[in-house]
Amino acid sequence: MEKEEIDFDELEDAQFQIKEGAFQPKTLTCAQCGSKAKKSHIEVIIGSDVSVKATGFECKKCGKQYLGLEEAKKLDKAMIVSRILRNDFRMERAISYDGDNWTMRIPREFAHGVQKQKAEIIPLGAKQFCVSIE
Ligand SMILES: [Zn+2]
Repeated sequence: MEKEEIDFDELEDAQFQIKEGAFQPKTLTCAQCGSKAKKSHIEVIIGSDVSVKATGFECKKCGKQYLGLEEAKKLDKAMIVSRILRNDFRMERAISYDGDNWTMRIPREFAHGVQKQKAEIIPLGAKQFCVSIE
């Protein structure tokens, strides 16, 4: 299998504005036209095979859509997953069993600036997951 590098600087920014401090508000004032934006379900198409359903706000007057911080984070992750699927990016690593857990070594290239020595695992399927290290 060929190794490829992900250029994280080339990742596209989400096209949603995040209103600071707006975690679970019932209404939101549209930053574009000043009207009240109502809660709505927004489906974001990321690629031909990935889309994300998120709860956000939509301005009925100008149509501008907003996502909360948590929803925007989900979207970011989905975009990374979509990119991985599209580019067929893979690295192979051996995993070993210690009688209790499976362990895997994390490539040094992904561990720059690791401080908390914690990993967040986001399940993607029965045998697939995404790991984020802090
Ligand atoms: Zn508006």
